[in-house]
Amino acid sequence: MIQTTVLSVLRSIESDEFMNMNHSNNIDSQSLLVDYLLDYAVIGAGVAGLTAADQLNQSGHKIAVFEKARGTGGRMSSKRVASVDNDSFMAFDLGCISISAKSDLFALELEKLHQQGAIAPWFKDDKSNNHYVGMPRNSGLTRHLSKDVECYFSTRITAIEYIEGLWHLYTVESGAKTLLAKANNVILATPPAQAYDLLPSNTQLKGVLEGVEVDPQWVMGIELDNVLSALPAIYYPDSDVIYSISQESSKPGRSSDNSVLQIQATPTWTNKHLEVTSDQVSELLITELERIFEQALHVKNSYSHRWLYSIISKPVQTKDGFLWDETGLGLIGDYFISGDVNVGSIGSNVPGIESAWLSGRQLADSLIIKIRNNRLVAKD
Ligand SMILES: Cc1cc2nc3c(=O)[nH]c(=O)nc-3n(C[C@H](O)[C@H](O)[C@H](O)COP(=O)(O)OP(=O)(O)OC[C@H]3O[C@@H](n4cnc5c(N)ncnc54)[C@H](O)[C@@H]3O)c2cc1C
Repeated sequence: MIQTTVLSVLRSIESDEFMNMNHSNNIDSQSLLVDYLLDYAVIGAGVAGLTAADQLNQSGHKIAVFEKARGTGGRMSSKRVASVDNDSFMAFDLGCISISAKSDLFALELEKLHQQGAIAPWFKDDKSNNHYVGMPRNSGLTRHLSKDVECYFSTRITAIEYIEGLWHLYTVESGAKTLLAKANNVILATPPAQAYDLLPSNTQLKGVLEGVEVDPQWVMGIELDNVLSALPAIYYPDSDVIYSISQESSKPGRSSDNSVLQIQATPTWTNKHLEVTSDQVSELLITELERIFEQALHVKNSYSHRWLYSIISKPVQTKDGFLWDETGLGLIGDYFISGDVNVGSIGSNVPGIESAWLSGRQLADSLIIKIRNNRLVAKD
């Protein structure tokens, strides 16, 4: 059922209705956040959304990205937490630990991003694959991708509607539904559950998202006075509670006299502790760390965050790594798998960033090629 839907949606990408670029630029600007007609409105400033936005922006299209958080990054964001006495900060990567490539295309992109200073190599794994991190934090990568793109932060899109050939984007302000922007095309670059909520009920894209599964995950940043120097960059302990321990202070560009660790709970443990408070989770994870290290920890600072949508456990397999329909509505994100990139379950090498980047890049490239071809046909 899902497979059929994917195919029929993909078929529409070949149709002449692929682009909706025929509208006038004059729109009623009253109360709009963006007072001109956008070629593309992108919802979500994670790796997928910003990769597509950057690529389309570079080829001359009018783009705006709308992001509910205060900055870029999504699941690749970083966090600064003040110490209890407010005299210092603990900084750590709140989501993604490291970036590595399975496809040649993404491996080339990582080399380019390294040369541009957006990422730096952290370590090589046992298969000699480079693992990179964003510079000076993981959020540095998405800040780099967004540097030429118009972004509206703290802007949650609550509804999108297709009216008379144009996409209308709304938010809720003081309890009232407010129109923010109009666009010829809209690209949803959010986690699948949030994309599902935004999709109009009559689109067949909705059916595709019903098959996607995403695990939740508690993540803790912890700063210690003890220096645990014997740890590898990422350590996977024998524990039902803790999935991974990564040494933030061993990443390039991070300076800290203390050991800063990022701890990821297992999805199974997270599911059992979904409604527990952040402070209680920190306490439980610290107790488990002391068991693993067989020593008392001198904790300077700690902070736990619950990702409701963390790692994709059941993705959508497509030919191209995105979906697009005839109204100018697209879906991209790490839940699309294409080509030779295979998703693993947690515990293996999950190519989340690679899938997100490929998805955004493949959609942007397809749109750019299609527009170029349409222009050539029009000239003839
Ligand atoms: C704890 C953790 C560890 C991970 N470790 C790794 C790893 O080591 N290696 C790896 O490759 N991958 C890892 N991943 C996965 C990787 O981070 C993701 O696959 C990738 O960041 C997803 O990018 P995305 O652009 O598809 O989605 P996201 O990063 O989720 O971006 C979506 C954006 O949409 C915004 N948004 C949602 N709804 C709305 C709305 N209504 N209006 C406006 N904005 C909205 C969100 O705020 C978010 O910024 C990890 C993820 C987590 C959480």
